[in-house]
Amino acid sequence: NFVKTHIALKPPVYGVKNDANKKEFAKEFVNSQQNSKVKEWDSSFYLADLGQVVRNLQLWTKHMPKIRPYYAMKCNPSQPVVQLLASLGVGFDCASKFEIETALKCGVKPEDILFAVPCKMSSHIEYACQTGVQVMTVDNADELHKIKRIHPTGKLLLRLNVKYCGNGIKMGDKFGVTMSEARELILLCKELELDLIGVCFHPGSGSNSFETIRDSLQRCRELYDFAKLIGNDFKIVDIGGGFVCGDNFIKISKQVNATIDRLFPPETGLTVIAEPGRFFVENAFAFVTSVHGKAIRGDSAKYYIGSGVFAAFCLKYFEKFIRIPESLSRQADKCKCYASTVYGPTGAGDDIVLCDSMLPEAQIDDWWLFDNMGAYSPLLSLGFNGYMVTKAGFFISQDTWNEIADKLNPNSPLFEQYQQLEKTDEEIISNDM
Ligand code: PLP
Repeated sequence: NFVKTHIALKPPVYGVKNDANKKEFAKEFVNSQQNSKVKEWDSSFYLADLGQVVRNLQLWTKHMPKIRPYYAMKCNPSQPVVQLLASLGVGFDCASKFEIETALKCGVKPEDILFAVPCKMSSHIEYACQTGVQVMTVDNADELHKIKRIHPTGKLLLRLNVKYCGNGIKMGDKFGVTMSEARELILLCKELELDLIGVCFHPGSGSNSFETIRDSLQRCRELYDFAKLIGNDFKIVDIGGGFVCGDNFIKISKQVNATIDRLFPPETGLTVIAEPGRFFVENAFAFVTSVHGKAIRGDSAKYYIGSGVFAAFCLKYFEKFIRIPESLSRQADKCKCYASTVYGPTGAGDDIVLCDSMLPEAQIDDWWLFDNMGAYSPLLSLGFNGYMVTKAGFFISQDTWNEIADKLNPNSPLFEQYQQLEKTDEEIISNDM
């Protein structure tokens, strides 16, 4: 049995079925559309299994029990995810006033929020101050003076630069200080009487590598020693995000734990935290879209789908992996294959989702599912040329729900929605944005 905990953003209708996974759920919907002449929902939507988010958190807690995760909301700020993680005790890395607002609305306490962007707009710092968000990251003297003026009681984490990003998206020179700059800023904090509570770094999204963490932790230890000499006892080291949910995670977590035990034994009094984003959500979301245009020329095919690089697939240019669609409408082994290029719906020539990949032939109005679309794909986008994605559906299995229900904060908005569903025990379709 599956229950829906929350449906947001003008969803299509989803059935509640046994042993449903994302694909089963999507198929159910697609089949319900089969007989209509013009498809009621001929665009695109996201479909999320919140149970997968729970399993990802369980994996994290099992392998890095001492490192509290602060979920990087920039990765996927959808409210059901935020509510779920909040009520399971996760903290939040917010990058803007909007994200702080969303987190607070979802029941996150200000003390569980990090304002983790080193260059912040003054009005956003002011908002953090007014709402009781204390911890912020910094990497330059001007930011320190700004904070001294607007939020003088804030608690600061000094962001270090990262040279190597593993397999991930490069941070480049945008953020972070060198070691000599770090020492100068530690001294400046003391002079300005600002509360510098530790250091942080971020290896780059999707980094999935230990080298950067090892090198950065070593530098954190050197700065810990330097700060101690001038009477500033650091309390926190924040190792950022970049974790990917897969086999490599277990190997990396062992290396991270061992390095932390060696560099920061209990007598240092230091707490280590992290800012994972992708790790929690990437594999929990699928993107479902229909093929609305098609042209076969010899051995190759062109397809046109509901969203492209200006919306759902915007990260195609930064990420290194390719997503292949699965057909929800026909069996792949019964179709002829073509070297296929898949285009987004806009008029832009480079709106290309997938180039020259062998795909089984699809027909007009077929539905495709792209899996692993939960990270950095804009869930709600205004789109270019008027092609918008405004729909998302969320579900969780009854078993997973039962497993976590007593751990959830009874005041969580998520819990209220579940209770509502239990009362009505029927499909709820909401048009709320
Ligand atoms: N922390 C910071 C400062 C980031 O910029 C990001 C994303 O780039 C993250 C955490 C999350 O990274 P990921 O989603 O790879 O875990």
